[in-house]
Amino acid sequence: LLSKLPDVGVSIFSQMTLLAQETGAINLAQGFPDYDPPQELLQALARRACMPGQHQYAPMPGLPRLREAIAAQVARLHADAPAPDPATEITITAGATEGLYAVLAAVVRPGDEVVVLEPAYDLYGPAIRLQGGVPRYVRLPAPHFRPDWDALRRVLSTRTRLVIVNTPHNPSGAVFSAEDWAELYRLLARTDAFLLSDEVYEHLVFDGLRHLSARQHEGLRERSFVISSFGKTYHATGWKAGYCLAPPALSAEVRRVHQFLTFSVSTPTQHALADALEADPTDAHALGLAAFYQAKRDQFRELLADAGWDLLAVPGGYFQLARYQAFSRAADLEFAQYLAREKGVAVVPVSAFYHDGYDEGIIRFCFAKQPATLAAAASRLRS
Ligand code: PMP
Ligand code: GLN
Repeated sequence: LLSKLPDVGVSIFSQMTLLAQETGAINLAQGFPDYDPPQELLQALARRACMPGQHQYAPMPGLPRLREAIAAQVARLHADAPAPDPATEITITAGATEGLYAVLAAVVRPGDEVVVLEPAYDLYGPAIRLQGGVPRYVRLPAPHFRPDWDALRRVLSTRTRLVIVNTPHNPSGAVFSAEDWAELYRLLARTDAFLLSDEVYEHLVFDGLRHLSARQHEGLRERSFVISSFGKTYHATGWKAGYCLAPPALSAEVRRVHQFLTFSVSTPTQHALADALEADPTDAHALGLAAFYQAKRDQFRELLADAGWDLLAVPGGYFQLARYQAFSRAADLEFAQYLAREKGVAVVPVSAFYHDGYDEGIIRFCFAKQPATLAAAASRLRS
């Protein structure tokens, strides 16, 4: 059998969730909440599930009423940018995952180079390679994981088709500032490269920081695909719903792929999400997520304070990175396995976010968990 991805195994997230199940460890590995979506959203889905006449294919780019509700919310939250046109600039995808894949399949041609900032979400590299593209990796230096603009400039060339960024960043939580977008624009303005901006943690920014989308930068907007996920925003990772925002010509290319990848996304799910968005014209839910997750971050950090863990700063997202050299000199994968087996807490080794397994001795905890889960995990981690 000729594998197209011979070096790719089962994702680290699945591996660690399996290890947690086998060992009975508390799962702070794979990024998902251990609480449910808001009651109103669940009730909306129940209502929609029982409604006749709404169970066949949705329109290929997404239900018009969901796209309109997204356009209205994006217009409110990105008040400094033109509102996206729901007809031509918003495509509903089966999670951010499908959106990312559809963009890569639409844009990357054989031999094209795609810049990936590492540590990086595990999908990017393999999805680029499946298009015949060539990933060009640039490291984000620890502990702040801010882009090294000189290093980025050095990999850009006439072969660069696309640059991928992720803010807030998985796994570090680093958040792009206005100055970062301006720097990126200065570099990209001299090229024809497109920008893929993975913004699935857009509402999870802490300490008064503000998320800035690529589409809020006037120069970048015309070359940007922006990816969002209802999984993160509504604590519903299992619903696999998200969307891609892009100018009309770019959205048209995403839709060319999307129509053959999934064609369309679950109809009752889209109706329920539209119901939730329409019922919340002040964006109370989305705007409340920053404080909700900041409290979790703070609880987890306080519980682990003075216990030997070197906790890195977390400006956004739902992960806490930690160095563990006070306890062990082991490789991060080995240490993660030890934690699951001996301490009963599953985590993700950050080396899994590097194509070459680069290991700085950092592990990732997901703090999108109930207070009691965080407390139980922390007490195991302190022992
Ligand atoms: N991008 C990043 C950075 C992620 O962390 C995740 C999943 N946690 C995704 C994309 C995929 O999102 P979805 O679950 O909506 O497919
Ligand atoms: N994005 C999630 C994480 O970083 C995992 C999603 C998945 O398992 N595909 O943990």
